[in-house]
Amino acid sequence: MPGINKTAVPDYALHVLEVLERGGFEAWIVGGWVRDALLGNAAHDVDITSNAHWQESEQLLLNAGVTVHRTGIEHGTLTAVVAGHPIEITTYRVEGTYSDSRHPDSVEFVSSVTEDLARRDLTINAMAYHPVRGLLDPYGGAEDLAQGIIRAVGDPYKRFSEDALRVLRAVRFACRLGFTVEKNTHDALVACAPELAHVARERVGAELDGIITTGRLALAMRSEREVLLAAIPDLAPMVGFDQRSPYHCYDVWDHTVHVVEATEELSGGVASRRLRWAALLHDVGKPKTFTVDDRGQGHFFGHPSTGAEMSEAILRSLALPLSLIRPCVDLVRFHDRPVKATRHSVLRMLSDLDSRSPGEAVPLAFETLVLKRADALSKAPEYRGYAVEVDKIERMLRKVLSENAPYRVQDLAISGRDVLQQFGGRPGPWVGATLDACLREVVHGRLENTREALLTWLAYSGSPHR
Ligand code: ATP
Ligand code: MG
Repeated sequence: MPGINKTAVPDYALHVLEVLERGGFEAWIVGGWVRDALLGNAAHDVDITSNAHWQESEQLLLNAGVTVHRTGIEHGTLTAVVAGHPIEITTYRVEGTYSDSRHPDSVEFVSSVTEDLARRDLTINAMAYHPVRGLLDPYGGAEDLAQGIIRAVGDPYKRFSEDALRVLRAVRFACRLGFTVEKNTHDALVACAPELAHVARERVGAELDGIITTGRLALAMRSEREVLLAAIPDLAPMVGFDQRSPYHCYDVWDHTVHVVEATEELSGGVASRRLRWAALLHDVGKPKTFTVDDRGQGHFFGHPSTGAEMSEAILRSLALPLSLIRPCVDLVRFHDRPVKATRHSVLRMLSDLDSRSPGEAVPLAFETLVLKRADALSKAPEYRGYAVEVDKIERMLRKVLSENAPYRVQDLAISGRDVLQQFGGRPGPWVGATLDACLREVVHGRLENTREALLTWLAYSGSPHR
C-alpha cells in the first residue's frame, strides 16, 4: 500500500501541528484521517493528539489567533477552528478501569503517543502520522488496511468488554470498508455482543444507523449476525423461522438478508436511509402473527401492521429521529399491500401514503415499489415473477404523476370555500371531511375531478359531515 504523501495534509492541520510543536510539544495526526489517507482519501476530518495538556494547547492556539472551543476538557479534548475547519485536539491519554462496559471510570494522561494508540479500538484506527516523522503504526494497521482486515488492538475480548460499543464500531468499519473481521476478533465480537444490552440505546442506535448508512448491512447480517441480534433483540425470532409456505424458500431471516441486498442493488447502491431500515424491519412482525391452516400451510395475517408497530417501537427506543421513523414505518406497513397496475390502485396508494406522510407520497411510493420488487425477488423461484408486475405498477405510477392526476385534497378542482358556499354554515373540521369524501370518490374513479362534477355530486350527496 502506498504511504501518505505529506502534501496530502491540509494547511489548516499543518498550522495546528506547527503551533503546538513550536510551543515545545509533540503532536500527531491520528485515527480516521490517517486510515482514510492511506486508502487514498484524505478528505476525513483531522484529529490531532499531543502531549500538551488542554490548557497548554489552548494558550498556544489562542496566542496564534486560532479559535478554540472546550468541547471535552474532562477527557482533555479541545476543538480548534482554522479557516472554518474544526480540528479535534486531544491530550495523549489512556482510559482507566471500566466498572461497567460503558464509561471509563477515569482517563489518565500519558506521555507517549504509542500508549495513546494502544487504547484505540482497531488496528486500522490506531495509526499516527506526522509530515516529518512519517507513519507511526505499532499494531500493523497499514498491513490490515491493505489486506482488508478488521482486527482489535491487543486482546479483543478485553477491548470489547471494556467498551461494548466497540463491538458495533468493529462491524460498522467492516461494512464501511467491505473488510473481513479477523477470526479471533470475530470470536470476541460474538462472545461480547450480549454486553450491548448495557450500552445506552441511543449510542447503539447511532452505530446501527452508521452500519445501515454504509449500504452493506447484508454483510453484517451474514457475517456478524449475533452482533445485530444483540443490538436489536426483536430480530432474534426471525432466525431459523420456517415460513411453511410455498411462496418462500428461505426462513424469515435469510429472506430478509436477500431483501436487504436486493433493495440496495435495485437502488443502485444509493437506497435512502429509511428504505434500508425498512428492508431490515419489513418482516419483523412475522413470527408474532404466524398461524398454520388445516393443510399445514403457514400464514402471517396482519404482519405488516404488527411489523409497523414493532418497527416504530424499535426505532424510537434507538432514539432515531421522527423524520426517519414515520416514513420508515409507512414503508413497513405498505410493503405487502396489494397494488395493481391500474390508475385507481396507484392513486389510492399515493393518497394513502400522503395522508400518513404529507408531502412524501411520491418518493415513498417509488420506495414502496423497490421494497415490493426486492421482496418478490427473495421468494421461492416460482413466485419471483411478481417483480414484473411491480414494473408495470411503476410505469403506471410515472404515467399518473406525469398527468398530475389528483391524489391529495389540494389537487381537487374545488376548495373549502366552494364547500362553504354550497352548504353555508361555519367553517370547521366538517369542511375537510367533505373534501376528503370528494377525494375518495375521485381516487376510486367514481367521480371526475372537475368543478361541475364535484359540485353536482356535493349537491346530490349533501354534506354528511356538517
Ligand atoms: P469516522 O468518524 O469516520 O466514523 P473515526 O476513525 O474518525 O471514523 P471516531 O469515532 O471519530 O472515528 O473516533 C476517532 C478515533 O478515536 C478512532 O479512529 C479511534 O482511534 C478512536 N476511538 C473512537 N471511539 C473509540 C472507542 N469506543 N474505543 C476505542 N477507540 C475509539
Ligand atoms: Mg471521526
